[in-house]
Amino acid sequence: MASLFASESGQSRTNAPRLCYCGESSSVKTSMTSGNMGRRFYGCARYGVDVTCGYFEWVDPPMCQRGREVLPRMVAKMNRLENELARTVAIAVAGVDEAVVVAVLVAVVVVAEDGCC
Ligand SMILES: [Zn+2]
Repeated sequence: MASLFASESGQSRTNAPRLCYCGESSSVKTSMTSGNMGRRFYGCARYGVDVTCGYFEWVDPPMCQRGREVLPRMVAKMNRLENELARTVAIAVAGVDEAVVVAVLVAVVVVAEDGCC
């Protein structure tokens, strides 16, 4: 029951509308800092756009020490793998483009050879 209570409590906290001190609606954001990676929070709606009012409130409880150590390494690894995948796809696409160009050139040469005589 304790976990059910925590879940219901967290759900109502995230669904409740929040207004920052500017009076604007604040949406839930996710922290990407190494000490709080993945932890959700409310902040000033004008953050990054204008002068902020300084409103800040965590949605999720603090992460355990082990999570603070492991999660940033997992995200770094994921980013590295995504970059490698993007490079591999770019090389594959470039390879396909070269193959298409070669095929078109071969087709043109064949047509030209057939057209002569
Ligand atoms: Zn604000």
